[in-house]
Amino acid sequence: MQEIHGKTRVMGLFGHPIGHTFSPLIHNMLAELTGEDLVYVPLEVPSEKLLGDAVRGAHAMNLQGMNVTVPYKSAVIPFLKEIDPLAEMIGAVNTLVPVEGGYRGYNTDHVGLRLALEGHGIRVADHNIVLIGAGGAARAACFMCAAEGVRSMTILNRSVEKAQALADEVQKHFPETEIHVMPLSQAGQVPYDRFVAIQCTSVGLAPDTGSSPVDDAAFFAKTEAAYDLIYNPEETAFLKKVRETGAPGWCGMEMLLWQGVAAYELWTGTKVPAGAAEKVNQALQNFLRQKTDGSSPAVTKDSTTESCLPRMNNIILVGFMGSGKSRISREIAKRTGMPHCDMDRLIEQLAGKTITDIFAAEGEGGFRDRETRMLHTLLGEGREGRVYAAGGGIIIREENRRLLRRLGTVIRLEASPETVLKRVGKDTSRPLLQGEDRMQKIRSLMEQREEAYRDAAELTISTDGREPKDIADEIIEKIIGN
Ligand code: NAP
Repeated sequence: MQEIHGKTRVMGLFGHPIGHTFSPLIHNMLAELTGEDLVYVPLEVPSEKLLGDAVRGAHAMNLQGMNVTVPYKSAVIPFLKEIDPLAEMIGAVNTLVPVEGGYRGYNTDHVGLRLALEGHGIRVADHNIVLIGAGGAARAACFMCAAEGVRSMTILNRSVEKAQALADEVQKHFPETEIHVMPLSQAGQVPYDRFVAIQCTSVGLAPDTGSSPVDDAAFFAKTEAAYDLIYNPEETAFLKKVRETGAPGWCGMEMLLWQGVAAYELWTGTKVPAGAAEKVNQALQNFLRQKTDGSSPAVTKDSTTESCLPRMNNIILVGFMGSGKSRISREIAKRTGMPHCDMDRLIEQLAGKTITDIFAAEGEGGFRDRETRMLHTLLGEGREGRVYAAGGGIIIREENRRLLRRLGTVIRLEASPETVLKRVGKDTSRPLLQGEDRMQKIRSLMEQREEAYRDAAELTISTDGREPKDIADEIIEKIIGN
C-alpha cells in the first residue's frame, strides 16, 4: 500500500452524509496505480452553514483538490474563486482544483456520463434523447446533451414546472436544441419512434429496488437503449423493463468511474491509463456484487497491483552494494548498444554534489527523497530501451519499488556477504558502511532489505564466483533474447 509521509498531497470529499461514498476507493486506487503521492479522505461537512469555512479551511491547509457531493454541489459555488463555464451553466460543481487564492470549480458528472455512453457506442448527438428527471444529475445530463449537439430531447419529470425551468435554461444557452417537457405520467407518449433514455431520478435506488419511474410498455417499446444513473442495484426495475424488450441497458457505475477519473486528471494533470481505470471499475463492481448494504468500499492491497499499467521497455538492475550492478549493466549496454545510466551518478548530477555530501547534509531520508523524485522524472521523460544500475537501497521504499517496476524489468543481482565484503571492503565512499566491523554491517543491512529486494524484482541472479560478461549474457538471453 501507498506510503503516507510529510510530502503526501491530501485530497478529499465534502458532503453530508458521506458514509456511503465510493470516491476514496476510486482516487486512492488511482493514486496507487498511477504512482501519484496523494491520499483521498472523506471530510464530512455536517451543515451548509459551515460550507464556506470548509472551503476556506481546505485552501488554508493547502488541500490539493476536493470533490463536492450532495447536498452541496450548488451551495459551494459562492465560495469559489473561479468556475468552469459549463459548470456555471449547469449550476453545480463536484470538483475543486486549487488556483491562486482558492479553488476553481468544475462539473465532471457530465464528462462521466458522456464517456460512459460513448463506451457503449452511444454518441448522444446521433439520437433522440429522453431524460427522466430534472434534479441535479439531470441538469448535468441535459446540458451535456445540448453541448454535444443533440437535436431533439424530451424531459420527463414528476414536477413539470421543474422540468420546464431546466428546459428554458438549457435553451437560453443552446437554442438550436429542441426540448419538449412532459409529465412522467405521460411517458408512453414521447414524440419519437426511437430514442435513447437517460434515467436520472432516484427512483429504484437501494433499498427501494422494486420501483421504476416509468411503467408504460409503450415507452419501453420505443427505447433503443437506456442508461440508468443509479448503480446500486446494478439492475434497477427500470433497466429490467428495458432489457425485457431486448434493448441494451447499462447502470451508472461507469459514469461514477469516469467522473472520478476526470476529477483525478484535473488534479494531477496526468492522463489515467485505460488499464488503471479498468482496474478501478472491476473493484467497484466486485464490491457492489458482494455488498449492497450501503457500506463504503475500502482499498485493499489485493485491489491494487500495477499489472494493468503499461510497463516501459527498460532493464533495471537492483541489488546490494557490491553485487555487480554497475559492471554488469555496462556489460549489457556494451553487448546490446542500449544506453546505460547509473542512477546514483544521475542523482549526483541532478544535485550537483556527491552522495556522501547529500547524506551528510540531508541524511538518508533526504537521499531517498531524491531517489523517488529521480524515478518520477525518468518515468515522466518516457525514454525506453535503457539499462539502469540502481542504487543499493532504492528498493527500501515501497513507492520506489512500484516506480521501478513501471520503469522496466527489475532484475536483482545477489551476492553473499563475503563476496560483498571482498568487493567493497576498502571503498570509503559508502556512507552506510562507515565505522568498525563492516562484515556485521553488511549482514544486518542485507537482512533488513531482503524482503524489499524480493518484492522489487521479477528475476534474481546470483553473481557469486561468476564473470560479469557471463551474467550479462544470461540477462540478455532471458530478457531480450526471448
Ligand atoms: P435530486 O436532485 O434529488 O433529483 C431527484 C429526481 O428524482 C428529481 O427529478 C425528482 O423529481 C425525482 N424523483 C424523486 N422521487 C421520485 C418519485 N417518487 N417519483 C418520481 N420522481 C421522483 O437527485 P440527483 O442528484 O439528481 O440524483 C438522482 C440520481 O442519480 C440518484 O439516484 C443518484 O444516486 C444518481 N447519480 C448517479 C451518478 C453517477 O455517477 N452514476 C451521479 C450523480 C447522481 P421531482 O423533481 O419531481 O422531485
